Amino acid sequence: MTREPSRLTNAAIRQYAERVGEHHEIYDRAGTADLHDLVRRLGGRLAIGDSKESLHVNAPGDFVIYLPRLTSSRRDRFTIAHELGHYFLHYLHPGSETAASFGRGERNPVETQANVFASSLLMPERVFREAWRLKDGDVHALARQFEVSPAAVAVRAQVLGLS
Ligand SMILES: [Zn+2]
Repeated sequence: MTREPSRLTNAAIRQYAERVGEHHEIYDRAGTADLHDLVRRLGGRLAIGDSKESLHVNAPGDFVIYLPRLTSSRRDRFTIAHELGHYFLHYLHPGSETAASFGRGERNPVETQANVFASSLLMPERVFREAWRLKDGDVHALARQFEVSPAAVAVRAQVLGLS
């Protein structure tokens, strides 16, 4: 599959991820994303692999996300969202027209872009900001709400300028 970085800015990737989530109505009232449902709706499926996590696209609307054995559900959720980032950014829409601006110093922009996508898909900005305020920046409480790791919450808060 294509491994060229997307030309979307990180800000555009964040918006894109949230639009995907909203379009497919994957968020419950707490803002928690239903990724299994999203994968199904997109024509994908999940499988347990013997190697590390990966994405195999047969055709648009036909793909498999391989998850490693022996991992946690929160880690799996980030992995699934990350691989969906590759699917949208690097398979469906490689080299789009929007202005490029990934940092030149970044060692692996493709992986960074998939993480940016995953972070926004799992923790949409508006809901995250509200939750951060209500829970007074309690990283563990937020991690439970969004079903992600505390580390993922910390990164999201930092990107949004909350911490
Ligand atoms: Zn990746």
